[in-house]
This record gives sequence, structure tokens and C-alpha cells, in this order.
Amino acid sequence: MLSVKQASTIIFDLVQPFSGQNNIDVVKITDATGRILAAPVTSKLDFPHWDNSAMDGYAVRFADVENCSQEEPVSLEIIEEIPAGYQPQKIVRSQQAARIFTGAIVPPGADTIVMQENAKKQGSRVLIFSPPKQPQAFVRQQASYYQAGNILLDSGIRLTPSAIAVLAAAQCTNLKVYRRPRVAILSTGDELVTPEQALKPGQIVDSNQYALASFVAENNCIPIPLGIVPDRPEALQKAIAKAISQADVVLSTGGVSVGDYDYVDRILAELKGEIHIRSVAVKPGKPLTVATFPNCLYFGIPGNPVSALVSCWRFVQPALKKLSGLSTGWEPKFVKAKTCQELRANGRRETYLWGELKLVDGCYEFALAGGSHSSGNLINLAATNGLAVLPVGAKVVSAGELVAALQI
Ligand code: AMP
Ligand code: MG
Repeated sequence: MLSVKQASTIIFDLVQPFSGQNNIDVVKITDATGRILAAPVTSKLDFPHWDNSAMDGYAVRFADVENCSQEEPVSLEIIEEIPAGYQPQKIVRSQQAARIFTGAIVPPGADTIVMQENAKKQGSRVLIFSPPKQPQAFVRQQASYYQAGNILLDSGIRLTPSAIAVLAAAQCTNLKVYRRPRVAILSTGDELVTPEQALKPGQIVDSNQYALASFVAENNCIPIPLGIVPDRPEALQKAIAKAISQADVVLSTGGVSVGDYDYVDRILAELKGEIHIRSVAVKPGKPLTVATFPNCLYFGIPGNPVSALVSCWRFVQPALKKLSGLSTGWEPKFVKAKTCQELRANGRRETYLWGELKLVDGCYEFALAGGSHSSGNLINLAATNGLAVLPVGAKVVSAGELVAALQI
């Protein structure tokens, strides 16, 4: 049986991220949030576009004011008023100043801004009481943030509000982004019904279909819900073949254990899939099958609702993010947290216990979810946001000790 680390290395290495000119959508900037940039963006504009003032005050020549003081202020002639959005009309010469406001273009001739708190207007003149520290004080210099022609934003980044701001400022309103991976979702099991159907004895609602569709959507991929497939080899084979043909990734739940009705591995082999993983030393989620087809990565995930989601968070989520073209930051996110309760495991498999991660005075604390930690108990998994990880060999972690925790 593979360790979690071995399994995750195999899975993440199997993923060929979207790259280059393939798999591209062109979207409007208003539809681009969360998408991954597929080509580097450059701009013909410098940032700032011109020297501009960082303060409300007076644009002056440093040499005129460098020796002024409270006792011996310098008096300068105000030649112009320059609000933001206005093009200066005059050159500031020696013994002259221009009234200026934040963001406005610094006029030719001036090299320094005196903030208005250090100046006093007297009719058409201004008294300067305190010298600026150096020439260029409070001048935001043209191209000091970005020089035209360089890469403004590189491909492989997720478009967040701050990236969208940059693209808007650079007047890039149509963007090349990677298409979203298509992820088919299949639930296997004779006991499953939809949430709309009346439950007969022994039946259970196919909650995994909804959990996984939500998980897929949350990861900026397109869920293709393919419904429930009974535990019959012919039906399963047909459904799996269809899923593989229309998706980049298939997530099936159930049917990967060693029970009499667990056919998924056999069918994957019959369909000529290459099977890379059959089980992982993890709790919950031991029966995990990973296979590849020419254009598709297949995850056969255990049916227990908690096992299914833990497998998704630990193995599938990074794979989806990497596939999406994200160049960095697709790996699972672990933090160190102080556990509030004693945590227990059998020590034989890497164990994931669910609970709430909270920042307290800048440090994470982990509060174990109350109730059963059975892999069938989806009730107390809801409203958690972290999984504490007990490595192989760890049977007890005492309250107050640090553990690694996966943010979910
Ligand atoms: P399996 O992995 O098929 O052996 O299923 C393990 C357990 O998970 C059984 O108790 C199933 O009833 C339950 N289960 C399987 N599939 C689903 C599903 N889609 N939604 C909710 N529970 C499921
Ligand atoms: Mg089953």
C-alpha cells in the first residue's frame, strides 16, 4: 500500500497542466474572476503614466526651497493650479510654484512637491516653511512601478481582484484564460437514490454527487453530473466509458473496495486504463484508485461520504488546480495548529480528523469536531474547515501540542 506522500507525488506528476496556446478561452474582464491567465500580458503604458503628485500641495524646484525654515520661509509665485486629470500649461521656473493635488501631473520645471501642511497661501504667492527631504519628494515617478513593454502579469496566475485591477488599468479588457477542466461525477451503488426520491429501507441518498459537484465548482472546474450507476458491470462499463469520453477528469465514488459488488478497478482495466494506485495508507479513504486514459485522469474514490471528501481535498483538489494551469500554489495548504483536544489514531495509516481551525492571537488552533469520526458521519463534517493530520506511527497527540492541519 502506498503512503499518502507517495500517492500524492504519483498523482500530481500524472497531471499535465494546461499550457501554451492550447485549451484557451477568450473572456471579457468582467467574466474573468477566478480564471487562470493563459498568456503573459504586456502593456504599452508606463505605471505611473507620468510623474504625478503623491500629496495635495505645491510643485516647486527643490533648489528654491531647500534652505527655507519656519523663521525664514521662502515666498514663491503661484503660476497655475493643477487638479487631477488636468494637463499643466506652464513651466515652473525659479521662484515659482504650481498649486497641485494628489494624482495630478507634476508640471515641467518642478522636481519636488511640498505638502500643503508646510505651506501657506497668501494671495497669488505661497510661503514655504519647511524644506522637503530631497528632490523628487512626494513625486510618484513615471514608470517607477512598471515600465512599458515588460511582462505586466505572467501566465499561470489566478485572476483575483488585484490582478483584475491591473488588467483594467492597462486597458486589457479581453483576456486569454485557460478553459476550465471538465470533471465528470458518477455515483456507484444499488442503494443510492436521488434527494427527490422516497427512501425505501436500506436506501441512502446519493449525497456524494452533490458534494463532489460543489467541490468541483468551488475549484473553478465544470462539474458534469452523470448520476447514479447501479452495481452491475455492464451498466458501470457503459457509464465509465461515457464519462471518460467527455471529461478531463472523472470522479466516481463507491465500488473501489474489496466487496463482492466493487467492480470499478476491473472495469478500468477492461477499458484499457493504466492503473497507478489501488489503495493508500490513509484514514479515511484507503481504497483509492487512480488510473489514466489518453485524455483523462480517473479517480475511483471510496463511497463513504467523509472518505470521498477527504480524498478530494487531499488528492483531487491539487490535481484540479494544477491541471487548470495554475503555475504555483496548487499544492495542498497545511498550517501548524495547536490542538485544543487530545487527538487519537491507530498509528497504522496517516489519519485525518476533522474540526475547526481558528486564528487566535495570530496562531491557529484546531478544535476537533464533536461526535463520531466514522467515515460515514457526514453530519459533523459540515461546518468544519480543517483536517488535523496524524502521521503514521502517531497514536496520541495531547491537547496543546502542535499538529499539521489541512485547510479545506
Ligand atoms: P462503497 O465504497 O461503495 O463500499 O460504499 C461505502 C459506503 O458509502 C456505503 O455505506 C455506501 O452506502 C456509502 N455510499 C456509497 N456511495 C455513496 C454516495 N454516492 N452518497 C452517499 N453515500 C454513499
Ligand atoms: Mg458500493
